[in-house]
Parts: sequence; structure tokens; C-alpha cells
Amino acid sequence: MKILVTGGAGYIGSIATEVLLGKGHEVVVFDNLSQGHRAAVPNEAHWVQGDLAAVDEIRATVREQRPDAVMHFAARSLVGQSMDAPFLYLRDNVTQGLNLMEACIEFGVPRFILSSTANLFGAPEALLIDEQYPVAPGSPYGESKWMLERALHWLSETKGLRYACLRYFNAAGASESRGEHHSPETHLIPLVLQAASGQREGITVFGNDYPTPDGTCVRDYVHVLDLAEAHALALDVLDAGNCTYNLGNGEGFSVREVINAAQRVTGVEIPTVLGPRRAGDPARLVASSQRIRDDLGWKPVYTDLDEIISSAWRWHQQHPNGYVD
Ligand code: UDP
Repeated sequence: MKILVTGGAGYIGSIATEVLLGKGHEVVVFDNLSQGHRAAVPNEAHWVQGDLAAVDEIRATVREQRPDAVMHFAARSLVGQSMDAPFLYLRDNVTQGLNLMEACIEFGVPRFILSSTANLFGAPEALLIDEQYPVAPGSPYGESKWMLERALHWLSETKGLRYACLRYFNAAGASESRGEHHSPETHLIPLVLQAASGQREGITVFGNDYPTPDGTCVRDYVHVLDLAEAHALALDVLDAGNCTYNLGNGEGFSVREVINAAQRVTGVEIPTVLGPRRAGDPARLVASSQRIRDDLGWKPVYTDLDEIISSAWRWHQQHPNGYVD
């Protein structure tokens, strides 16, 4: 298939592009490089620098490329930032997603895969969160994704668009040639690895008074290559019906456990200091991914936390300053 990947210069989008190309798909990457890196885009992909905020730019690309499917990765995705700057999410994430959806409807793109999030579930009480768990977004970021999920529902009802909503828990790890590079970096694993390589002094642990075994937040870290596989699987079955899946490993690790694992992997002691809680952070977010396992046979390959961190560490050592654009 020919797939238009928005945000294909970003962390998850570029690795999904790599995986889709490896499966023989044709990929058009559309990215404004506000957060992504041109160097992350595989050479075999067709490159379009464009902005989803500019309706004419995305319309022209969809009209010229006529993709069989769209995968929409391009978005702001920081819970903390969304609490400080809600309009970046409630307006920009939502409007840009709608601009893309409207172009798909206008030019007859039949399939749409949305990058959604575990932040739909706010501060859940269940140990494992499945797709039946009530949605109550935990931040303007989560709310922006929920609004786009609902938009897809109505575009399916009214216009026949087929869609998949894939709700990532904590994407982590790297492929052989692509990894995680944000500026500024806010994510736990890359920050810990920067500390291990001496690029920062240490790590601030955001709160140790959560109702978890060691008091630090528990998250479900899922390898980015496993996420990419889920996209490829969803694409294959979309014509049979819409789907919504929670994507995680089903096992939670605390901030302390992640730091300990990174110390094992890197052999470096990582200094930590305790800081206040970060706004919008729930205590525990761990997925049940039983539905996608049962329906599509998805089986995460990289289930071991040390292995996930090792892949990120290999990439970090080869690209100590990330992508050089
Ligand atoms: N975290 C932390 N210190 C940091 C960055 C993150 O303690 O410098 C914690 C954060 O509060 C959360 C977990 O690590 O509980 C994962 O955060 P990250 O930003 O990587 O992903 P998120 O859960 O926000 O998607």
C-alpha cells in the first residue's frame, strides 16, 4: 500500500516508516520538522516538508499522492506541557488532525490510523487497563487525542472512513538506526541515558509519595518496534472493520526500577534527586493488550525492560547528540 505518514521525521513515526518500508509498502512522509529531524526519515521514503496547520499544504499532498492509508503520528505529546499550554493541544493537535481527516475525506483516502494515548484514562484504578475502561482524559493532551478518536468515529459513521485508534502506553527503545531525540528532552529513559553518558548531572525523580510499591510512578514501557508492528497489523485488517487497541507490555515498572535497569545496562551509577510531582502524572498506567493479541496476533517481541533500555543505549552511544540535521 501507499501510506502517508505524518510526523514521519519524529521518534515513533520514523521508526514506523522504516518498518513499513521493510514490509514493502510505499511511504510518503509529511512533517513540518517542528519537532522531528530530516535525518530520521529513511531515504526510501518520499519526503514532503509541510504543515498540517496549513490546509492547502496537506490538501495538496493528499491530492497529489492519493495514499491508500494515512498514519497520523504528528502531534504534540507531552502531558506536562499540555497542562501549562492547553491550547497547543486543545486547538493545535485537534485542528491539525481535523485538517488531515478532512483532506482524507475530500480525496477519498479510505483508511486512517491514529496515534492515541494511555492518557485517555486519566488516573485509572485498575491494575491493567483494557479498552472497556472508562475514558476520562488526564490532561489537555489526552483530551486532544480523545477528540480525534471521536472525530474518527463520526467520519466513519457519516463518510465511511475506516479507522484504527492505537493507544500507546510508554514508547521506548530504538531500532538499529533510529531512536529518540527530542529538544528539550523530557522523557525518562533518554534522560537517564544522558545522565549515564555524562551529558547531564543526574535525574530528578518526580515524586516518591504515589500509592505504588516504591512510591514512584509505574509505567508500561513498550518497544517502538513493537508499536510499529501493531500499525502494520492494524493496516492489514482495517477493511474488515474499525478497531481500537491499547498497546503495552502488560507489565509496569517504576521510575526507580527504570533507573536501576539503566544502571545495569550502562554499568554507570546514575545520581538522582527527589523533586515534586509533575502535573498530570497518574500513579500507575499499565495496559492490557489482550484484545490486539487475540484479534491480530500481536505479540511484543521486546518485553524485557533491560533489553528495551539496551536498544536505546546502543543508539544513544552511536548518536550521542541525537540526529545532526
Ligand atoms: N519522570 C521522572 N523524571 C524525569 C522524567 C520523567 O521522574 O526527569 C517520570 C514521570 O513523572 C513519569 C515517568 O517518569 O512518571 C515517565 O515519564 P515520561 O515523561 O518518560 O513519559 P510519560 O509517562 O509522561 O508519557
